[in-house]
Amino acid sequence: MERLNDNVYHIVQTNTSPPQIPDTNKYSLSLHSLMQNIIVYDTTLRDGEQMPGVSFSPAQKREIALALEEAGIREIEAGFPAISSAEVSMMREVKNSLSKSRMLALSRVVESDIDAAADAGADLVLLFIATSDIHLKYKLHMGRQEVLERAVEAVEYAKSRGLEPSISSEDSTRTEPEFLKKFLMAGVDAGAVRVGITDTLGIGTPESISSLVKFLKKDINARLSVHLHNDFGLGTANAISGVKAGAGAVAVTVNGMGERAGNISLEQFVSAMKFLYDTDLGVDTAKLTPLARIVSDYAGLSLHPNQPLVGSNAFHHESGIHAAAVLENPSTYEPVSPEDVGNTRRISLGKHSGHRVIRALLESRGVDFSSDELDMLVSAVKKEGARNRTVNPETVLEMFKRMKMDNN
Ligand code: MN
Repeated sequence: MERLNDNVYHIVQTNTSPPQIPDTNKYSLSLHSLMQNIIVYDTTLRDGEQMPGVSFSPAQKREIALALEEAGIREIEAGFPAISSAEVSMMREVKNSLSKSRMLALSRVVESDIDAAADAGADLVLLFIATSDIHLKYKLHMGRQEVLERAVEAVEYAKSRGLEPSISSEDSTRTEPEFLKKFLMAGVDAGAVRVGITDTLGIGTPESISSLVKFLKKDINARLSVHLHNDFGLGTANAISGVKAGAGAVAVTVNGMGERAGNISLEQFVSAMKFLYDTDLGVDTAKLTPLARIVSDYAGLSLHPNQPLVGSNAFHHESGIHAAAVLENPSTYEPVSPEDVGNTRRISLGKHSGHRVIRALLESRGVDFSSDELDMLVSAVKKEGARNRTVNPETVLEMFKRMKMDNN
């Protein structure tokens, strides 16, 4: 282990040769079955709502929780009950409306927080306290031993309140790894059913998260969750790296919403696991685009057109070469079908559209045409495109019908 600077630790692997990973998409059976067992827990209603300017109403929270349940998310972190009695009653309503999924509540290692989580009806309480030296010194003003003792007491108290406790360290990626392991193991000894690491600042990399998870899992015999942030855009890659290294739960949010650059996107993590790693985590991916739209709507945010999988451009083809090929066979330029993630295909034609794409469109719809008719239609589409910027395929077919009628 090497201390790189005052705040960042990286575990240096003694074996520097690249890890032996089988072909993409072809994982060994054991790794595959290990990865099937991953819990995807959604924190849109808690960490997602911590995004500046976002506030969901209790009715919206209930609706989002139900949509998550409907999509197959079995653990929903619905809030931070210590915030207020309104948060407690909102959570109680969420809990009462869920029939298949469990509700999780965030809690500091403080008895009153744990009491609030019990009042809210939480099934599992996510206890957390920071463990990095910088947080200990400037935020908690505590020593390591005190942090460890408070965590142990909180786990025991949560158990006495009938809650399943999970213990997480905040700012794990800047925590001295040996202390991190000692802290989490103390939590397990006290009765924590799950331990968690957090990349609070989003500074982890696929390699460092993998090393850290392996280092901890060697000695910790409990499900390990990862709560990661996306400050460098590595969130999804880090989460996948974490589960490949043995993590058994991943915190996600719809649209990756959350503080600063946000959290791991539910859509991206679940879809990458399913379509690129052949690992179905039980989430109905066809529900992902509608879910992304409900949440962005309630959050008062618009989805970026280029947002992977759920954005309006994710399956939008405009360039002539792409559009013509997609009309013949969508797999030429689509990694999965839009229906696989609940999105829709859009093909736009316009002033740059040539014979090739318009011929492909007519042929794909089984329309008979002569080469003169094609010439006329292409110039009509170019003219229409210059006026309207884009012309959808239905309009082109309408134009063709009208043209035929006018010529008869
Ligand atoms: Mn967070």
